[in-house]
Amino acid sequence: MDNILQELKNKIGGAVKENVSLADHTWFKIGGPAKYFFIAKNNDDLVKALKAADELKIDHFILGGGSNILVSDNGYDGLVIKAENKDYKIEGTNVFAESGVLAVDLLEATLKAGLTGWSWAAGLPGTIGGAVRGNAGAYGKGIGDILVSAEVFADGKVKELSNKELKFSYRDSIVKQKGWIVISAKLKLEKGDLKKEQEQVKAYNDRRQQTQPLNYPNAGCVFKNIDLIETPINKEKVMKGLDISEEEFKEATKFNKLPVSYIIDRLDLKGKTIGGAQVSEKHGAFIVNVDHARAEHVIMLMSDIKMHVRNEIGIQLHEEVQLVGF
Ligand SMILES: Cc1cc2nc3c(=O)[nH]c(=O)nc-3n(C[C@H](O)[C@H](O)[C@H](O)COP(=O)(O)OP(=O)(O)OC[C@H]3O[C@@H](n4cnc5c(N)ncnc54)[C@H](O)[C@@H]3O)c2cc1C
Repeated sequence: MDNILQELKNKIGGAVKENVSLADHTWFKIGGPAKYFFIAKNNDDLVKALKAADELKIDHFILGGGSNILVSDNGYDGLVIKAENKDYKIEGTNVFAESGVLAVDLLEATLKAGLTGWSWAAGLPGTIGGAVRGNAGAYGKGIGDILVSAEVFADGKVKELSNKELKFSYRDSIVKQKGWIVISAKLKLEKGDLKKEQEQVKAYNDRRQQTQPLNYPNAGCVFKNIDLIETPINKEKVMKGLDISEEEFKEATKFNKLPVSYIIDRLDLKGKTIGGAQVSEKHGAFIVNVDHARAEHVIMLMSDIKMHVRNEIGIQLHEEVQLVGF
């Protein structure tokens, strides 16, 4: 047994494994093995593993639901800690959740407890930790709207950060910027119209089924939509490149974002295929693994899309999906 593995086992426990396929732990079903792999079943496990990785100075990566990552074909040369700390507690309208709880499971539990306020999370893949890190959301809302505070592992210590201190913005937070780890989160929900909320959840789930290519492995939207408040664009160039009128531009950007799916559709990039990776025909912002795709196929396809978009409408796309092991 190599020394590092032995030291990890000494510090975290016997359950550390070697050479575990990460493809099996991602929605994309792509990627090589993790050199070391540990499943944290509770908050103590998670903190113990993080401290051990720090002490041994080993590269490490937190895996949540694996719904927003692309793992390199060569895998990850370090310790992958899978967050399966899944306890939660509901007290009145307060919800305390460990970071490994799946958002959809927590949504179901809060509905059962008669709580409302985050129907937008219907069908949102991934964990609460992943959602807090990237301020996951839909339909103009996000986890930052319902989060009171989070316990975060930052610079070797666990500390509690308020909503304000977490600095949420579009698909972003201080956790993401600093590479910190979410241990648990406290949410504040409401006692609203439960029947209406349940109908909304169903409608959002149906909408995902209708609009997203859920029959193929994927990692959600690979690029962030263009936030028109933060990103200066050349509107004339965009309208010309996309071949759209002023009216069509207004309609497409009515939520102050230019959706990447709209751009890809207008630039006729849907269906483009490299190896086993394809720009989804159903939703242009998704790349789907149609036939044993390798990470390199996805990377080539992403580069190709970025080049087209930059050349034709002068906008630089930025990845939403996290690249691991590149
Ligand atoms: C079909 C589909 C639809 C999607 N729809 C949406 C959508 O509508 N809106 C949206 O916002 N996203 C969407 N996504 C993307 C994804 O669901 C979110 O980004 C989700 O929050 C990722 O959570 P995860 O646990 O799967 O993270 P992972 O994919 O496991 O990891 C993503 C990143 O988060 C980090 N991370 C994970 N857990 C923690 C933690 N505890 N602390 C710190 N960092 C952590 C990882 O290290 C990695 O860098 C979609 C994805 C898919 C596959």
